[in-house]
Amino acid sequence: MPLLDVKNLTLEIDTGTEFVKALDKVSITVEKGEIRALVGESGSGKSLIVRAIIGAVPDHWIITADRLTWKGQNLLAMSNEQRRMIMRREIAVVFQDPTSSLDPSATLKEQLEESIPAELLDKGRFWQRAKQRKDIAIGLMHKVGIKDHQSCMQRYPHEIASDIAQKFMIAMALVSEPELLIADDPTRSMESTTKNQILRLLGGLNESKGLGILFVSHDLLAISSMAHTMTVLYCGQTIESGKVKHLHRRPLHHYTKALLDSAPSFQVNLPPKSHLVALEGTIPTLQHLPIGCRLGPRCPKARKECVKVPEERFIQQHAYSCHFPLHLPSAARSHTQNTNNIGTSTKEYFSTDRLYKSDNSDSENSNITSQKTEGNEQ
Ligand code: SF4
Repeated sequence: MPLLDVKNLTLEIDTGTEFVKALDKVSITVEKGEIRALVGESGSGKSLIVRAIIGAVPDHWIITADRLTWKGQNLLAMSNEQRRMIMRREIAVVFQDPTSSLDPSATLKEQLEESIPAELLDKGRFWQRAKQRKDIAIGLMHKVGIKDHQSCMQRYPHEIASDIAQKFMIAMALVSEPELLIADDPTRSMESTTKNQILRLLGGLNESKGLGILFVSHDLLAISSMAHTMTVLYCGQTIESGKVKHLHRRPLHHYTKALLDSAPSFQVNLPPKSHLVALEGTIPTLQHLPIGCRLGPRCPKARKECVKVPEERFIQQHAYSCHFPLHLPSAARSHTQNTNNIGTSTKEYFSTDRLYKSDNSDSENSNITSQKTEGNEQ
């Protein structure tokens, strides 16, 4: 059973004149010990998903879902108190801007020690519990790589650098020993050295503690270095998801391919001074969503069939929503159009499906990909 299971999550916002679907049938799962990346450009709804999961949305926003469960328990059916308990002990969140998430009127020591739940302390006199709080706080500071804890703990949030602040936020998040960490673009606008430190820290916590991480970001390079699986979001819809290496090697959706092509790090044969590929146009506003596939007006391969909303289809664990996916032979494509879920019983139907059979035979896989791409890509 996954830790977090979100199926067909829809979030409707009242704009004053109408209700618009800011999220439309979004599906995500995070297993124990898995790092799942959630990617998409600004305005695609990444942070809204985080808010819907943690329950931080205004009362007048309408959330519906086929499933929104934490370890099998329905989050939507819980009282606010039950949900707060889960958020306090089992799910932790790190936000984009660490200093704005901290209390400016208290020192880091006060904030960190205060956030330690009483259940984690042994029974004893108040001075013994105070000593325990101090020891736990120092241990957490060292765990996240803040070595000079003595001077750091006496400072206020405005007196520390952004990398220290983000590490401190991660320490606060780890206080209750959560099973899932939701990191909402934690490395945004950080310079590369600091970013690498934060990524190494999160990757280390995943390996040493088996911490599940939902890593929300638009930074493909950061994601490729640490995530196991990836979900791509466009305009409030999940359009493709699967293992990171499968999506990098053979994206099926045109938007995923455009995202990868726009990142120079993924273009090994890019000549010097050449232009990067970018999709024309911008993400539409919620009030002016196109009918059918939301990428339609920007998609270089759009056809008249795209005025219908594409259904989600699967090749094993690789899901995509597109009428004309890349890299699939036409026979396979017409088969997927009539089949909602292509399971293992039909996988032999696709010659390209050999890619998914062995994750270890990379050289063989890359040959298959290039042959099929030349022969079948439209
Ligand atoms: S469904 Fe059509 S418009 Fe949408 S991504 Fe696929 S080809 Fe492009």
